Amino acid sequence: MDVTPTSPSLVPFEIAEKWPEELQGLALKNIEVTIAPIQNEEPEKDNCHSGKKAKPVYSGFGEMLFTHFGVSGPLVLTASTMCDFVKYPAGFRLLLDTKPAIPENELENRVKKIFEEAPDRHYVNAIQSLFPSRFGDIIARLSGIDIGRTAKSINSKELGELCRLIKAVPMTISGTRGFDEAVITKGGVSVKEIDPSTMESKSVSGLYFAGEVLDVDAVTGGFNLQIAWSTGHLAGSSIR
Ligand SMILES: Cc1cc2nc3c(=O)[nH]c(=O)nc-3n(C[C@H](O)[C@H](O)[C@H](O)COP(=O)(O)OP(=O)(O)OC[C@H]3O[C@@H](n4cnc5c(N)ncnc54)[C@H](O)[C@@H]3O)c2cc1C
Repeated sequence: MDVTPTSPSLVPFEIAEKWPEELQGLALKNIEVTIAPIQNEEPEKDNCHSGKKAKPVYSGFGEMLFTHFGVSGPLVLTASTMCDFVKYPAGFRLLLDTKPAIPENELENRVKKIFEEAPDRHYVNAIQSLFPSRFGDIIARLSGIDIGRTAKSINSKELGELCRLIKAVPMTISGTRGFDEAVITKGGVSVKEIDPSTMESKSVSGLYFAGEVLDVDAVTGGFNLQIAWSTGHLAGSSIR
């Protein structure tokens, strides 16, 4: 019988970097994430910032939650259905756009204005107003710009880099959480094995399949329950 390997899906992501743990409990609303595979043949290349770009498998807008192991929340659960770790064992690169509604050049003008209004403040404190909690600390740290620097000392190149980072905070998705934290199971008995008019196995007479044991799954929205109910009803009413 043809069975597609199973894996947890609609499930949180584990992130290789340690900094998300520092933000555990923080929910970011109205953000955008773009997820692309890390290509095995180019392990050292940053797929998203230089060289050949890997095609994204997912891009979406919504809410994300930081946890002690990485990231979760509605957007992440949906994104997880598009990440095939069997096909891409090296994992995925997640780029977080914390200001999706603001184009990069507009963001640069806004940050420049914030810096001009308080030139002697530490720049790290000046950018906090753009983010919830102390997310600005993380942005400053990831930027590599010394947190002791004042706002007026940030040159235009550094300002540009800071804004690019705010619009594409990189994270490495090393894997997902396990089945016990997943909403559904991906994979299962191939639908090619099943007669779709009865849910009976084509190779074993009298054997019927329904629900998650099948290699059928969907995003959130009631579709998985619908799959279970519809296939269950059909199998139940077809059994002779
Ligand atoms: C927390 C959570 C929230 C969810 N929310 C949604 C949602 O909002 N919308 C949506 O569409 N889907 C949702 N789902 C997914 C949905 O519940 C499943 O896709 C659906 O229930 C699958 O139905 P099923 O009958 O195939 O499997 P299950 O519902 O898992 O039923 C399988 C049954 O078989 C029993 N069983 C297992 N092994 C044996 C055995 N050896 N002998 C006898 N019995 C056994 C189990 O105890 C279980 O009762 C959610 C899932 C979870 C975990």
